Amino acid sequence: MKAIRGATTVDKDGVEEIKESVKELMTEIRAQNDLKQDDVVCVMFSNTSDLHAFYPAKAAREAGFFNAPLFSALEPEIDGALQKCIRVMVLVESEKPPKHVYLRGAVALRRDVTSIINIALDGPAGSGKSTVSRLIANKLNILCLDTGAMYRACALECVKHGVSVSDEKSVNELISAINLTVKHEGGVQRTYLDGKDVSEEIRKPEMSMLASSVSALGCVRTKMVQLQREIAKMTSCILDGRDIGTNVLPEAPFKFFLTASPEVRANRRADENLLKGFNTPFEEVLADVIKRDEQDANRKIAPLKQAEDAILIDSSTMTIEEVVDLILNKIQEKI
Ligand code: C5P
Repeated sequence: MKAIRGATTVDKDGVEEIKESVKELMTEIRAQNDLKQDDVVCVMFSNTSDLHAFYPAKAAREAGFFNAPLFSALEPEIDGALQKCIRVMVLVESEKPPKHVYLRGAVALRRDVTSIINIALDGPAGSGKSTVSRLIANKLNILCLDTGAMYRACALECVKHGVSVSDEKSVNELISAINLTVKHEGGVQRTYLDGKDVSEEIRKPEMSMLASSVSALGCVRTKMVQLQREIAKMTSCILDGRDIGTNVLPEAPFKFFLTASPEVRANRRADENLLKGFNTPFEEVLADVIKRDEQDANRKIAPLKQAEDAILIDSSTMTIEEVVDLILNKIQEKI
């Protein structure tokens, strides 16, 4: 089920004015969302307290919404609120993303339902970024982009072609022609190289350090950042990485820096590895995490760093659900 939102205004508190505005709004919602009568589960209106002449719900019935239950409510008086405004929420059975409709000067009360929003989630290895961003993306019904997977794919491309990650010239040649795509299937990101799904291969423990090394090269970062910005421009998404808030999307309205103690992070990585069938000793994972942090934080280009305007979250003693709730609450406060 999806919720389509909309709003409109009227010049005057009159029967004909309300009927006409509601008809126009509902016709537009129906057209933009390609709705049929049976798709509509119910329609709820609210209007500002300066409108009394006619019920918006009745106007919608007259405008052709015959089957669905309709409901109207009066909003409380709020100082500074838009005058003579009618708001609607249409619940529909549909798989398509809702297209919200705002007419005659009406605007969305929530920025997230009409505009593209980007959330930057940065942090060191094993801080829980991928899991947290997947859960947030599901809750907000937006895309999540695991940018680390893209650098891992670059590292794998080097391995496949026998190119050393320290040979910048050869890496440049290889990566400038890389055929890398990410797709989202069932809420999960899959990474493809030359059309082949490499999502599991790039997660092998040995790919982590190689990804860190290859990601320090300017030619690789330029190419990946360009791809990431293109995706972020087209759709609302949460991007997890190291430099999203500082470099990829410095203007992102929501920025978080997620961290935890190296021991906690290494523990999480070791557990993850085990689930994937790699039994790596804890000490080895810890050493890898520390070395990778150092390499990522001290590289010249776009190092791992908290953006000045990012909210710092130390998840050492928090559950994943607590981190997700905290981030969602912070986003909600700002919307
Ligand atoms: O997050 P993940 O462990 O998959 O990232 C692998 C490596 O990719 C990191 O250690 C880091 O060096 C690099 N990376 C980066 N910038 C990003 C995301 C990942 O440099 N935005």
